Amino acid sequence: MILFHQFFDPTSSTLTYLLADPLSGEAVIIDSVKEHLGAYLTFLQEQELQLAWVLETHVHADHITGAAGLREMTGARSAVSAAGGIGCADRQLRDGDAIVFGSEVIRVIPTPGHTPGCVTYHWRDRLFTGDSLMIGGCGRTDFQGGNAGQLYDSITQRLFTLPDETLVYPGHDYKGARVSCIGQEKLGNPRLAGRSRQEFIEIMANLDLAPPRLIDEALPANLRCGRPDSREVHGA
Ligand code: FE
Repeated sequence: MILFHQFFDPTSSTLTYLLADPLSGEAVIIDSVKEHLGAYLTFLQEQELQLAWVLETHVHADHITGAAGLREMTGARSAVSAAGGIGCADRQLRDGDAIVFGSEVIRVIPTPGHTPGCVTYHWRDRLFTGDSLMIGGCGRTDFQGGNAGQLYDSITQRLFTLPDETLVYPGHDYKGARVSCIGQEKLGNPRLAGRSRQEFIEIMANLDLAPPRLIDEALPANLRCGRPDSREVHGA
């Protein structure tokens, strides 16, 4: 039985994570991508895992979540940040909330800034940081309610205060990196290492990035939990 697996979507460079409890076989998927639903289901079946939770680190602008398909096919429940505006999720998460699967626990750390509803998931010795803290970078803050000062505070006060050896698994990597740790990012992340809050805000204001290709399609779909149309009953 595999207890930790990282999937990669080459189209959006999204990293998706599967965590499992060895005793019960219950599993969790973080930041799934709709196009890979079949691969997730095959993996769960081969490893004899039951999916308990489908988690999102935030409302994604660059891919559509696989949450709808995973809920339908496995009976798993979905959970998102209460600040994310995704009313169709089964559970709205707040600071310090616990997501339990078998005998394993994930803790919720709100890390707003890339979007107001961004969270980091803390499981054992590792963090799933979504687009808050990335390897040698961080999520952009120029749309979706982004706020560079808030992101700086989230990273420096909520993540950089954890032990240096805590592993960092981001929501994306565009350069082939797959894992970092808090110590490495504190020391070497060019946007953050030795930077004041004001310097960080200036760096983020001058990135000059093009909007994500799929944003017009992805945002509304992800606010419907990945459903293809608006039949979803909001707040259900
Ligand atoms: Fe994002």
